Amino acid sequence: MVADLVITAADLGRDQLVGIAIAAGTIREVGPQVAARPQDRVLDAAGGAVLPGLHDHHVHLYSAAAALQSVAAGPPAVRGAARLAAVLRQADRRLPAGAWIRAVGYHESVAGWLDRDQLDRIVPARPVRVQHRSGSQWILNSAGLHQVLATTPDHPGIERDDTGRATGRLVRMDDCIQAVAGRQEPGLAALSQQAARLGITGFTDATPFADPDALGAIAAARADGRLRQKVTVMTGPEATEARCPPGLELGPVKVLLDEDALMGFDELCDLVRRARRAGRPVAVHCVTRAQLVLALSALEAVGGCERDRIEHAAVVPPELDATLRRLGVTVVTNPGFVLARGDDYLAEVEPEDLAHLYRCRSLALAGVKVAAGTDAPFGPADPWVLVRAAATRSTRSGHVLGPAEALDHRQALGLLLGWASRPATERSVAPGQPADLCVLSVPFADAIGSLDGDQVVATVVAGAVVADNR
Ligand SMILES: [Zn+2]
Repeated sequence: MVADLVITAADLGRDQLVGIAIAAGTIREVGPQVAARPQDRVLDAAGGAVLPGLHDHHVHLYSAAAALQSVAAGPPAVRGAARLAAVLRQADRRLPAGAWIRAVGYHESVAGWLDRDQLDRIVPARPVRVQHRSGSQWILNSAGLHQVLATTPDHPGIERDDTGRATGRLVRMDDCIQAVAGRQEPGLAALSQQAARLGITGFTDATPFADPDALGAIAAARADGRLRQKVTVMTGPEATEARCPPGLELGPVKVLLDEDALMGFDELCDLVRRARRAGRPVAVHCVTRAQLVLALSALEAVGGCERDRIEHAAVVPPELDATLRRLGVTVVTNPGFVLARGDDYLAEVEPEDLAHLYRCRSLALAGVKVAAGTDAPFGPADPWVLVRAAATRSTRSGHVLGPAEALDHRQALGLLLGWASRPATERSVAPGQPADLCVLSVPFADAIGSLDGDQVVATVVAGAVVADNR
């Protein structure tokens, strides 16, 4: 057999280290006898753990990419020149080579009247653009300015000093800047690269897409390599019969239940029936008790499908556990919110609901299928933050929200190890499984003990190394 990649000295938590031979996107062989031949591409795991790649079961790719590519450069997030420099340098480290840094919300209270020279001292190599809070002015570093001046050498918006040298401040030149910067801003490529560094090999985009063009753009990013992860997409009910562009997987029909004007029971049943006719499961957004009750009643009336999902399930009163189990639906929860918003919940949520927030352990014990997603950019995008929050239930201030819901570390990791189409069924590192893998710098037991994204040394999608952090 000709292998595309052989991972050597992998710790799968067994008695001895193994080799993993990969061909055509699939794991072909796993065992202590698997060795690389001279022509094989080799990735030496050096005794580190190899896990199935992480799948973020609920994310919004476009919004997360937009959030990633804009750096907040003004109050309240940023005050003072030192902080400004820190956030710009942080973006510099994160982005692919050549991509623009786009910062917004600048105000002169941060570091005075910014110009190209100040920005060059912070980030000299890649183009940077910082938008003033007023929206009328961009300040560019020299690398960015050169690109704009190359296409637009004369424009009344170009501010110049007494010697005629451009200061980097450009007034009302958004179109000119966008024309050169827009194409090189990182978008999905940066999002994909950051996720790859953290071991993410797959995404399920839970946006209720109505427009086929939006799906086409994701497919294009997959096809041209900007987006390295496997992607499953949802659509809104109006696009239930949509065709899935090649290179993507079509997931459930996403149904949003608006809290202010809760959809009627009959209307929801009709949406579910329409999805069934199109051969698709549904994923119902439920953050309140009322939404969950409505969703489950409709699924009971129409008949559940084992690929149906409840998104978020922020509040699940235990009396609904039996229904969730009977329907066979998967709860795709977001433990990252326990960390990110837990302190607010402790202060604001009704006491009778507090114990039922983002339940994990008790749901699993009740036989309900549970998986998780980051809900980035609304929740923390780092999947390791999510699994640690599922294991500790710790809020930012160190309070513990629902201690009875804490999963053990291995279970917490399992929230992200499922298949896109069956999120609560774990993949494994075994022959026949997809070659979507995450290689860590530490042995299996240590990796499970610490659940730390800094330990990811390489990420493999369909047998291709998409991130090498070594
Ligand atoms: Zn969401």
